[in-house]
Amino acid sequence: MMDILKALPKIELHCHLDGSVRPKTLYELLLKEGFREFRDYKEFEEAVMVRDDCKSLKEYLKKFEYPLRVMQKRENIERITYELLEDLDKQKVKYVEIRFAPYLHMEEGLLFEEVVESTLMGMERAKKDFGIWSNLILICMRHEGVEKSIEVIQNAAKYIGKGVVAVDLAGNEQDFPPEIHEKAFKLACEKGYNITIHAGETGIAENIPKSIQLLHAKRIGHGIAAAKDPKIMDLLKEKNIFLEMCPISNLQTKSVGSIEEYPIRKFFEKGLKVTVNTDNLTVSNTSLEREYKLLIEKLGFSLDEILRIIQNSIDAAFITHDEREILRKSVDEELRKLELI
Ligand SMILES: [Zn+2]
Repeated sequence: MMDILKALPKIELHCHLDGSVRPKTLYELLLKEGFREFRDYKEFEEAVMVRDDCKSLKEYLKKFEYPLRVMQKRENIERITYELLEDLDKQKVKYVEIRFAPYLHMEEGLLFEEVVESTLMGMERAKKDFGIWSNLILICMRHEGVEKSIEVIQNAAKYIGKGVVAVDLAGNEQDFPPEIHEKAFKLACEKGYNITIHAGETGIAENIPKSIQLLHAKRIGHGIAAAKDPKIMDLLKEKNIFLEMCPISNLQTKSVGSIEEYPIRKFFEKGLKVTVNTDNLTVSNTSLEREYKLLIEKLGFSLDEILRIIQNSIDAAFITHDEREILRKSVDEELRKLELI
């Protein structure tokens, strides 16, 4: 079974660039930039990856401090993007939507355009070298306020159709509810962005309907709090909203107490459109293969059901009708080679 999971063609829709920096590269760049607070590589690894005893999302988010220190230069951002795609290509990922918040990379003087274009250059170079196809989702941060979100949406509009496909809202859900950013996401709609919103990750179920109704989300990041309210599950189903679930990350941040309480099986059986993603390859020390394995071993998913989840991801991807048919064909081709269809 593990060999099959390794060989499966995969789709990744929820993957943070800063949480997915190749560890060896991060170590090398930190040393190069003069950050020498680790005694050795092992101590470094503990500082940038979560352990099983991680207590909260807050503790989890502390791990992003180190990648953000080195992701303030164009060449570093380009390299990190390229290497992430090289790693994903080896894991048989056919299509990925990478996301990051441009403003977090402008602390040492980079311009918005330099940050976005460095990522797009890494994506292009990876496509040329490995054939892996990727698009970009830009994140607005909840705590930065609506005006900053509007800036992201306005500044990046020129990249729609050139690698940027969507905008997202992320960060502290409790203190900064979706309605604060309503004006920004109305603008995003008008500009032609696709919209996905982090909501219901840390237990606040009402953020899910608000993100759909007020922010026009077509996909919800995590969404696990929907399990508490049948009306919200009905809304997700009725509006055909896709859930970008990230099981290992959600377990680490203690969004659920244990894998047995994780609602993906419940959502799946209710006919909700779930997709499975990694959130952060490095911080969570995970891969799609590990996520699928967890679903099979702990939640009773069959291989056929994993294939249905992959089909959901194809349907959920922020791509055009024609592109979706190309992606579907390339995934089917791989599945046929594996004699799975
Ligand atoms: Zn996320």
